[in-house]
Amino acid sequence: MNRRIMLLSTVLFIILSISVSAKSKPKNLIFIIGDGMGIAQIHTGMIKNGNTLNIEQFKHIGFSKTYSYSHFTTDSGAGGTALATGVKTRNGMIGMSPDSVAVKSVLHLAEDKKLSTGLVTACAVTHATPASFVAHQINRNMYEEIAADFLKTDIDVFIGGGRNNFEKRLDNRNLSDELRTKGYQVAHTEKDVAAVKSGKLAGLLYPDHTPAMPERGNFLPDMSMKAIELLDDNKKGFFLMIEGSQIDWAGHDNNADNIALEVIDLDITIGRVLDYARRDGNTLVIVTADHETGGLTIPDGNIKEKRFNAYFSTKNHSGVMVPVFAFGPGAEEFSGFLENTDFKQKIVNLLKL
Ligand code: MG
Ligand code: ZN
Repeated sequence: MNRRIMLLSTVLFIILSISVSAKSKPKNLIFIIGDGMGIAQIHTGMIKNGNTLNIEQFKHIGFSKTYSYSHFTTDSGAGGTALATGVKTRNGMIGMSPDSVAVKSVLHLAEDKKLSTGLVTACAVTHATPASFVAHQINRNMYEEIAADFLKTDIDVFIGGGRNNFEKRLDNRNLSDELRTKGYQVAHTEKDVAAVKSGKLAGLLYPDHTPAMPERGNFLPDMSMKAIELLDDNKKGFFLMIEGSQIDWAGHDNNADNIALEVIDLDITIGRVLDYARRDGNTLVIVTADHETGGLTIPDGNIKEKRFNAYFSTKNHSGVMVPVFAFGPGAEEFSGFLENTDFKQKIVNLLKL
């Protein structure tokens, strides 16, 4: 090869490398899970909200296949575990492979790389979805063991219910005291949370689960924005999981009006998160579900009157694909068809975990 061609190819290689690395990667990731939120669930919220939702701002849209290792239709343990750890496992398991080996979640991996980490959930922090990002247990009902697993992490912020799993335990440990010893500020009310301006925060605001909408008020949007405020001063970035938990429970109840209320609550949260992400410019926002609940269909309704007729085909989950929405640097990675196990590796690549 003559020198001019060598020089030319070197220059071309450099230009190519720059353009590849210029394909921007996010610093922060906000992973939003609507438990039980299929397309029909989103539609109930959209109709009740006047035929519009913040979620319509997303341009990168895909589908996630939700089946578990053991079942055609997943539960929230295996569903959360797949999203968090990239492993399809047996229904009921938390943060473990089918042969009961603990698997690290994206939250653990972010922690290892010194990113700030957090989770905000509209139920007990020990419940299956948030637990999948923090704990390793053979059964999702082992709430006290799951609570103890929070102490084995360095998670910076967690806010939800589940206080009794930390403070009223069969083993008489008081995990809130242990958290304080580890340097956490333990908050029992939204006012306590609002007073925290920096540092680690354990927000255990309800003895059991947070209330359903509308009793829960602005808990989810407000606590999510507080978590972002506390996490986003880390130069290395942050990982935050936010769960709209009770879309699923309204689905189990076959109550479409309550599904709409829970979807709108999550959508308000999504709107505020997107405002933040747009301001920040380095934040990737992903919204998806662990599974659909209720086998919901909406054959008829009236958009002007904000009403619809809802029919459910099951009191349990269904096996259909769920939607995926992404915004920010790397969002294009999440369009098209995905396995629920694909999120983890994509997040690892984008955040360089
Ligand atoms: Mg859940
Ligand atoms: Zn469920």
